[in-house]
Amino acid sequence: MISQQNHLRCPVCASAIPWRFFRASAPFRCPTCNEMVRVPKSVHVNRTIAGLVLALTVGYLVTGSVGAFLLTAAILYLPGVAALGYLLTVTMGYRLEAAPSGLSRELGE
Ligand SMILES: [Zn+2]
Repeated sequence: MISQQNHLRCPVCASAIPWRFFRASAPFRCPTCNEMVRVPKSVHVNRTIAGLVLALTVGYLVTGSVGAFLLTAAILYLPGVAALGYLLTVTMGYRLEAAPSGLSRELGE
């Protein structure tokens, strides 16, 4: 059961999707059922907020002052988001949802 947590799972056919097919920023095609799937927008929003909180917390702990803390938070923000996103991906994997048909056309692909 633990080994399955690191796999992507197609929300349409429930097959495991190899990581080489995965795209975080755009819908991608399930290699088994050929349906378009994507990472829900809420995942990105949650990770952005979590990354911001992480950056602010680290910045405050490191500098101990509000002024330098804001600067440090700004510097740490992007690495914080990247690190947290990686950590969450490794530990939890991505939850996927079926993408509405025609979405890829809306995105200009
Ligand atoms: Zn599928």
